[in-house]
Amino acid sequence: MAHILEVRGLAKKFGALQAVKDLSFKIKRETISALIGPNGSGKSTTFNLISGHLKPDKGRIIFEGHHLEGLPAETVARLGLARTFQTPQVFSHLTVLENVLLAVYQRKRPGKISSLLRTPEFFRKEKAAREEALYYLERFFLADEAHREAGELPLGKLRYLELARALALRPKLLLLDEAASGLDPREKEDLARTLAELPREGLTLFWVEHDLNLLMGLAEEVIVLDQGRKIAQGPPSEIQKDPRVIQVYLGEE
Ligand code: ADP
Ligand code: MG
Repeated sequence: MAHILEVRGLAKKFGALQAVKDLSFKIKRETISALIGPNGSGKSTTFNLISGHLKPDKGRIIFEGHHLEGLPAETVARLGLARTFQTPQVFSHLTVLENVLLAVYQRKRPGKISSLLRTPEFFRKEKAAREEALYYLERFFLADEAHREAGELPLGKLRYLELARALALRPKLLLLDEAASGLDPREKEDLARTLAELPREGLTLFWVEHDLNLLMGLAEEVIVLDQGRKIAQGPPSEIQKDPRVIQVYLGEE
């Protein structure tokens, strides 16, 4: 199967507001795809519907052969779909390392008996988990911050931490909601370099981002929303000259 995710006829209303309307698209495996559109066009809502943080009113969401619509977020996560949030969600009173360790343990927890008895197996697994967590911290430039409290991190590093945690879950599909927002140019460059490596490692990225320059250089496919509807989908070169897309973005400015 060339596609890892298929969305068909997705719809969501908040009261009288139709936030997502009859939305259909497919996402190609091991690529970076972008979801763009003006403020309030339904990007985060679309992510919330896919990740199980919201229930759709209508439509189908098929991920690796599983129907996700109506499944709770934890179940969706266990199937191999991870995400970050527009406002980073971390455990602020834990250290940076502990935050990532929790994600590693979500996949492989040492057995109860071996934890209780502190068997050699327990220490071996504990060590492997720390090494793995440190590996993700290094990839997101956080090795020097491992023992800081997560709550003390500036926004850029918080976004990195959220990404390190999401990757530690070893997902197949990663949804990024404005991963570069609030980052300085240098941090954006670092972020782009790491994220660009991921498709070669078997990951698929679906990325909402305001910084279109950053995104257009990385994404293979771009989906454009306006008022909850898809108005265009295609490679960046086509999207950039699509009259409807240009109009929507000019309208925003
Ligand atoms: P985007 O991420 O593209 O900026 P959103 O998906 O966050 O847009 O929002 C789409 C529309 O739905 C907006 O008008 C927003 O105010 C509204 N909206 C989003 N979430 C909720 C909610 N939980 N309750 C009510 N309205 C919401
Ligand atoms: Mg949003």
